[in-house]
Amino acid sequence: MNATRMPVVFVGHGSPMNTLEDNRYSRAWRSIGRSLPRPRAILAISAHWYVPTLAVTAMEMPRTIHDFGGFPQELFEYRYPAPGNPTLAARVQELLQPLAVTADQAWGLDHGTWSVLAHMFPEADIPVVQLSLDRTRPSSFHYQLGRQLASLRDEGVLILGSGNIVHNLAAIKWDEPDAPYEWASRFEGAVKGKLLNRDHAALVDYRHLDPEALSSVPTAEHYLPLLPVLGALRDDDKISFPVEGIHMGSLSMLTVLAESSRAG
Ligand code: ZN
Repeated sequence: MNATRMPVVFVGHGSPMNTLEDNRYSRAWRSIGRSLPRPRAILAISAHWYVPTLAVTAMEMPRTIHDFGGFPQELFEYRYPAPGNPTLAARVQELLQPLAVTADQAWGLDHGTWSVLAHMFPEADIPVVQLSLDRTRPSSFHYQLGRQLASLRDEGVLILGSGNIVHNLAAIKWDEPDAPYEWASRFEGAVKGKLLNRDHAALVDYRHLDPEALSSVPTAEHYLPLLPVLGALRDDDKISFPVEGIHMGSLSMLTVLAESSRAG
């Protein structure tokens, strides 16, 4: 196939309120969406589908899941009506063989996916399939998923990871938007350095990236969506960080975009 190779992207999604807000994150996601080649479909891996199994959404019309509490009614009424794509779900199952991947009919799109896509592809006219994070498996497993799914990039599929490189809700400074903890800045900096040096082994073994790594990644689910994105990287991809910055002390909003530098 001679199609354009799709980029891969990891987005730091932060608060679900980004869905409704016009802020520097939502504006950046809009601008990324406009700059990308139009995908045939999107394979999203969200921090918020962290379950004891590997599954792929296989329904025709995924529902919009409001998997949070304590937000305004307007957010609960928000819908992202993109269709699913059972053919892509089957292709994911095929590429991941011999792993067993459940064809899921119960999940849908969670806010890790739709809070970002609301801006990146506001028309909601591109089919979206979600792949779960399997919480019984190690980080290396999630990196390997990306290795096996990388060829989707040549089939017009945008692989989108959505989490946060640094995500410590217990430490959040609610009234100090721009005062990052030193450990948070250091960890985010270490991740960027390893990304640019292509040191994927160090990023998979993230607990040893910094002496205080566990402050930045107290639980794995928001970091893990980075790893399938990394696994899908090719040697000639150009890496950039279209969004940077740590919000409210302990929430990294870093976006990692990798685009093929191949001509045509
Ligand atoms: Zn989240």
